[in-house]
Amino acid sequence: MTKKWVYLFREGNASMRDLLGGKGAGVAEMTRTGVPVPPGFTITTEACNAYYENGQQFPEGMWEQVLEGLKDIEAQTGKRFGDPSNPLLVSVRSGAKFSMPGMMDTVLNLGLNQQTREGLAHLTNNPRFAADAYRRFVQLFGKIVLGVDGDRFEHEMDEAKGHGQRQDTDLTTEELLALAEKFKAIIKEDVGVDFPDDPFEQLRAAIAAVFRSWNGRRAVDYRRVNKIPDNLGTAVNVQAMVFGNMGNDSATGVAFTRNPSTGEPEIFGEYLVNAQGEDVVAGIRTPQPISKLAQEMPEVYEQFHQIAKQLERHYKDMQDVEFTIERGKLWMLQTRTGKRTGAAAVKIAVDMVNEGLIDRATAVQRVDPHALDQLLHPMIDPAARKDAHPLTVGLPASPGAASGKAVFDPDEAEELAKTGEKVILVRVETAPEDFHGMVAAQAILTARGGMTSHAAVVARGMGKPCVAGAGDLRISYADQLMTVNGTTIRKGDWITLDGGSGEVFAGKMPTVEPELSGDFATLMSWADEFRKLGVRANADIPRDARIARQFGAEGIGLCRTEHMFFEGDRIDAMREMILADTVEERRAALAKIEPLQQSDFEGLFREMAGLPVTIRTLDPPLHEFLPHDDDEIEALANKLGVDPRKVKARVESLREANPMLGFRGCRLGILYPEITEMQARAIFKAAVKVKAEGIDVHPEVMIPLVGHVSELKLQEEVVRRVAAEVFAEAGVEVPYLVGTMIELPRAALVADEIAQVAEFFSFGTNDLTQTTLGLSRDDSGRFLPIYVEKKLIPDDPFQTIDQRGVGQLVQIGTERGRSTRLDLKVGVCGEHGGDPASVEFFHRVGLNYVSCSPYRVPIARLAAAQAALGEAKRDK
Ligand code: PEP
Ligand code: MG
Repeated sequence: MTKKWVYLFREGNASMRDLLGGKGAGVAEMTRTGVPVPPGFTITTEACNAYYENGQQFPEGMWEQVLEGLKDIEAQTGKRFGDPSNPLLVSVRSGAKFSMPGMMDTVLNLGLNQQTREGLAHLTNNPRFAADAYRRFVQLFGKIVLGVDGDRFEHEMDEAKGHGQRQDTDLTTEELLALAEKFKAIIKEDVGVDFPDDPFEQLRAAIAAVFRSWNGRRAVDYRRVNKIPDNLGTAVNVQAMVFGNMGNDSATGVAFTRNPSTGEPEIFGEYLVNAQGEDVVAGIRTPQPISKLAQEMPEVYEQFHQIAKQLERHYKDMQDVEFTIERGKLWMLQTRTGKRTGAAAVKIAVDMVNEGLIDRATAVQRVDPHALDQLLHPMIDPAARKDAHPLTVGLPASPGAASGKAVFDPDEAEELAKTGEKVILVRVETAPEDFHGMVAAQAILTARGGMTSHAAVVARGMGKPCVAGAGDLRISYADQLMTVNGTTIRKGDWITLDGGSGEVFAGKMPTVEPELSGDFATLMSWADEFRKLGVRANADIPRDARIARQFGAEGIGLCRTEHMFFEGDRIDAMREMILADTVEERRAALAKIEPLQQSDFEGLFREMAGLPVTIRTLDPPLHEFLPHDDDEIEALANKLGVDPRKVKARVESLREANPMLGFRGCRLGILYPEITEMQARAIFKAAVKVKAEGIDVHPEVMIPLVGHVSELKLQEEVVRRVAAEVFAEAGVEVPYLVGTMIELPRAALVADEIAQVAEFFSFGTNDLTQTTLGLSRDDSGRFLPIYVEKKLIPDDPFQTIDQRGVGQLVQIGTERGRSTRLDLKVGVCGEHGGDPASVEFFHRVGLNYVSCSPYRVPIARLAAAQAALGEAKRDK
């Protein structure tokens, strides 16, 4: 008995990829589920290999089996190969085990010759369509199967269209037929053979061409690059063509088995009567909504509806299908997992669990954490966005969309907002003194700065959209305008930002509000069942802490105490403290700050009742807090009642060439221990007070930018001494921890020493990235995007952790830290704490928690669950 080289679609299934290739196994599976797929067969990959072993001849028995397969197709369609009265036409496609897109083009409409073309013209009542199909077939067959230089055909086409005077669609039936004849002449001239009119001859040649394409240059190169073995061979799929343009009982369309925007369990799609697939894509005629099909062809619609449900049950996911109705008979051409919005992803996942289609773990793994961003913020109305072109694209620094009047000055932003106007603050970059303008604005746009710039971090914390580092902007504060790629936007002109994509649009665009529906909460609760990583939030003020808790934060992982001074007049007290010349002056300024801090801490403790609150001692990059120009210096001097020249001199003396590596972090508290003392007192007095209200408080004091254990030791002593004083005074004790940030490479390397003092670590991966890569957080926006674009590095390391470099330090730091303190609690509070790929990494290296901005808490929860589920799967 000869070997089986040919499998009818109904003889295969999804597990037969090796033998039938990906495409063959796919259509076989679809056929097996009972949906009406145009009949066909697959010639196996083994046949391809045998063809080569056999000196490029079909192996014995293969052709006979192909003819048998063809008979089966004829029986199922009622059409006959080569019969002008009802011609069967087929497509011939390659299909290897692994998808190799573009390796070989598809040959469509095989079986056409002058006679069958006339038959097709008659059946479709559309001679032009038949002529065009014939013209395309001759062209494709000539190029792909016979190896004629495709440019020669293109040249003729171009000639016929008058070199750009007319479109393809303008060519008449006669012109198309004349072209087909010309193409045949070219074939004869170029390769010396007549174009085969015999459909069987066409099929034989096309199958051989697909086999040969396996060793074509493109395919070989593709396999080398993608590490696909050469000995797999390709399968060949031969399938009946069906036509949706055979009259008013025919149609073609595309549909989703559920609504891909909302997730509603309703079929969603479009179709065109008496049309072929291309007409739907070309957009010349407006397709009908699929609901109309229920009226026009109720029986077909009912069948379609059943099939949609059946496909979902089979593939256990929402499907994106292509179909054709040929003279009242429905054919499914393709089904694949459908793309969907974040909102739809959540609803579909939850619905499918409730329908018993999938389990909770699958549902949790189905939703892309990034897609949650869309749910948590307003977005530009998709209808409005379709035809809009952005003025420019900057960094997507904080998601969400907003429209407002462009304003270039924070004071004006505040004033205008007070009158009820919506404004967008546009700055070259932002600094803490712009904060009131940022609060007043709907969104923030900057020309300079990266993903961890002041604007980006603060906007994310507030949940406001921000586009940062839009390098094309030319901003003139003097003229109150910006120019961008030839457009001028003046103060008061409307602009719209999409902080999720980084796009900046001129004008006002409608936005749609997020809906944190029950499904969202349900999915999140399922995620919590699986995750092992804790998720905390970076929150500086009680309002943010409340939002964080609503989003499911299990504590505060980072309170940047210097941020508490962004609002209102508070920055003046901070500046007074920074500018103080003497200990006395500084103590006087600190005395003003202390009650403000204490009340903020009380607020945080109340919001986070029962949960840990990590408070970091002062870590201001000084340049962010100092007054910049003479006007600001003058204003500050007036407020403080001192000579502007004195302020100016002090500002000058504090100016640093490299502030990010300057007088920051614990260095401040080491030189001025009274600052740490004041902060510790504010923390513990707040803790004692809130505890007296019957609320459980868990302060964790964190010392930043430590490189030597001696630095931590010194600060720890201050904190513990003050704690003891406050507790003694109050006659109550509050349990607390003292720990440190690990944000310098040295700290990671000597983590074993540091852990002898620190009760917990929190990796400050923003600074750790900056210092490990020698890459300024503030300046990298100018060149880093080009690095990513040129693929020198896979991602912006300030967004996604550089696992090989910075990640290794996280791993080393964790291991060494736990070598001297077994129960060391380790977290991360850099921006990476809210990035799904980084969260997966932090799970893998065994951290206890991640901390991120409040609005990213749900994203981190989902990513942490997926990391745990992914690991469980690998272990199995
Ligand atoms: C860090 O460096 O990662 C961090 C959280 O601190 P900051 O961003 O305030 O420097
Ligand atoms: Mg830091």
